[in-house]
This record gives sequence, C-alpha cells and structure tokens, in this order.
Amino acid sequence: MDLPSQPPFTLRARLLTPLAAGGTRHEADALIEVDTGGRIGAIKPAADATAEVLATATDLRPLVVMPGLVDLHAHLPQLPNAGLGAGLDLLTWLERYIFPLERAFDAAAAERLAPAAWRAFAAAGTTTALVYGAVYEASLDATFRAAEAHGIRAIIGKVMMDRITYDPTIDPTTILDQSLAESARLIERWDGAADGRLRYAVTPRFAVSCTADMLRESASLAAATGTYWQTHLSEDRGEIAEVAAMFPDALDYVDVYDRAGGLSSRAVLAHAVHLSDRELGRLVETGSRVAHCPISNLFLASGVMPLGRYVEAGLAVGLGSDVAGGPDPSMFSVMRVGFYSQNALRVAGVGDGPLLGPLDWLAMATLGGARALGLGDVIGSVETGKEADLIAVDPRFAAPLEDQAPDDDAADLASRLIFRSHPDMVRGAWVRGHALAGPARRD
Ligand SMILES: [Zn+2]
Repeated sequence: MDLPSQPPFTLRARLLTPLAAGGTRHEADALIEVDTGGRIGAIKPAADATAEVLATATDLRPLVVMPGLVDLHAHLPQLPNAGLGAGLDLLTWLERYIFPLERAFDAAAAERLAPAAWRAFAAAGTTTALVYGAVYEASLDATFRAAEAHGIRAIIGKVMMDRITYDPTIDPTTILDQSLAESARLIERWDGAADGRLRYAVTPRFAVSCTADMLRESASLAAATGTYWQTHLSEDRGEIAEVAAMFPDALDYVDVYDRAGGLSSRAVLAHAVHLSDRELGRLVETGSRVAHCPISNLFLASGVMPLGRYVEAGLAVGLGSDVAGGPDPSMFSVMRVGFYSQNALRVAGVGDGPLLGPLDWLAMATLGGARALGLGDVIGSVETGKEADLIAVDPRFAAPLEDQAPDDDAADLASRLIFRSHPDMVRGAWVRGHALAGPARRD
C-alpha cells in the first residue's frame, strides 16, 4: 500500500478518535485532509465529498485512522532486553539485565541503536514518547539526533543519579554539578528543536538513586527552563520502605518530591501504584501527571494501581510501556493489560470507581497522554486544527477468522484492536503529516 510521505494529502479511511470535548467520533468512511503545514484540515464523511476530492484522496479502506499513541514512560536504552528477566525481583533484574545495557549505552551505542528504537516505537503506533536516555551527555545527543532524523515526537532526558548508580565515571564530589551542567547544555541544544517536536525532560531517576540536593536542583533547573521533570514514584513496596529510610523527615514518598519542588503540571511521575489519600490529594492539587504502566507493574510484581480511585479524585493519568520493565512497547498491549489489571482488582474485591471500557482506554492512550504533556490542544485526537499525528491500523489483523466482516460499532472495533492486537497491524504512522519509518517493517 502506497502511503503519503509528507503533507499535504487527503486520506480516505474509517475514522476512530476521542474528542477533546468528550466522547468519540466514529466515521465508517471519512475523508481526512492534512494541509501543507501538517495540520488536520477538514474531516467529513466521504459521502459529502465531491468526485474531484475523492479522486485525489489516498484510499486506505479498510484501514482505520486514529490519533497516534502517546507513550508517557519508556527507557530507550533498555529496549534490546525487552522481554527478559521474568520472575526476577526488581534489584536482581536491574543488575542482570538493565544496568549493563544502560552502562554500555554510550554515544556509539546510541548511534547504532537509537534509530532502530524509534522505528520500533513507531511500528507499535507510538508517535509521541517521553523517554529516559542513558547517563552520558554524548549518548543523549545521539539519541536526540536519531529522533530528529526519524520524525517521531519525543521528550527525552539524561538520567541523573548521584548515589546508587552504575555510572563508572562517577565522582561523588562533582557528580551533582556535572549532571546539572550536562542537563543544562542538553536543554540548550535540544529543548524545542525540530520546530518544537523535540523537548527535554530533566530526569532524576528516582529518590533511591538521588540525594535531596539532586532532586531539588533538578526541579529548579526544570522550573527555570520550562522543561518537563520526570521520575519514578511509589512503584514497589521495597522501594517505598527504602525511600522512607533515606528521607526520614519526609511525610511519605510524594513529600520527598514535594519538598524538592518537583510537583507541578510539568512533572510526569511513573507508576504511583501505592499512593495514600494524602499523596493522591497532593498530586491532584499540584497538577502533577502520572504515567500508568500496568504491564511493567505486573511483570515486576510491583502491584496494581487503583486507577478508578485515582481518576475519581481527578488525577491526570496517561499510559506508559515502561520498556523494558514492560516487555512490550505496544500501547495496545498496555491498554489490554491495564484493563485486565483493573478486572483483577475487582475479582479481589478491592476495585472501585467506574469500570473503564475500550474507548476509555483508547482515550487514555491518546488524548490522556497528550494532556499529561500539556499538548492536549496540539495532538491526541483527530480534530480540525490539530497537528496531524496519525496512525493507520488494519483491523483485519485483529479479526478472529479469515474474511470476517469488520465490527460496525466503535466500541467493538476498539475492543478488537486492544484485546486482539497484532504486532504488524499498524501500517502507517505520521507526525505533522510526515510518515515515520517503522510500521509495516516486515513487508
Ligand atoms: Zn521506568
């Protein structure tokens, strides 16, 4: 299938998208115009179009055009080991499968692997990703360059650690200043690059590997530069106990980041599985965002987020693959396991809040992620005026039987794509109307 590689173009396809005002738009046969600037122009039923317009459109039927998926949490250097280490506890898994990879992810490794990593995200339908890089400045430059060349929308940060780190070059007396200076230089070079498609996230790994000074200084840097601030929060019971011992003055885990000045609408906190009511209330109050990573939370036996309670409290939640804590970069898989996790809570008699259906999960993986990044007006849904971050998905990959007629209903279609997702079903992906390499890579 010949897909348009750059704007302007018009697609004819089935359309499924959440709407910024709430609800879903579903058109069985739609025309979606992308203008020369890579923005979404008119969207209308094909039946309302003139013969001339129909003749110029790229006919993708029976493919479904949807907003590109937003992955709010992933570790790019860890991607090569995705799927390894099942059954290990967090620390053993980190030492055996993760730290050696990250330690070796220098500039040369990033140049070799980052282009393929971005293609792998796009192949899964992810058009925006918030990721952790390695600790080395030159490695981050190579990772950003690869994202710039690939075309994905990416927010990337150099991991900062000043204690319990794998970095062999670490000098305890200078690591704080060095890590801040490197992050500041990367912000200058890359935040807002590619016309705003690339952004920077100041990235202290988590409270266990950062001193209070590192947390505070990194939060100040993010505030002063208007960049994102990302870290991990309340993933695992052992980690929570460790943080309590390391920060005895803090009220709880959230308070450690609160005292550092980290909580704001630019903060994206991964996991947040085991929050007290006080912690939940404080995250809502400060407008902090949470990346829910249900696959990773089960793979590493961390726990199950009480999502219903959080959503009812008004917490801003998007979804993350947490590759390689999660073995699969596909956000369709994340939605599926997220749904199963919430069912597991219900089976255990501890689930509460409304049960989210397939269209709710799809909205969380698109518009929810976009809003968590403050990009809700720019991407996350297929609506006139937004930037054309789109994917085209072939629902035939998800059909149980050969030649089975496609589902007419929007929720049924979403359900099929989530619960029977296939690694090859994303056939095209665009950011600002520019096609990304990766989808249909096995053709
Ligand atoms: Zn993570």
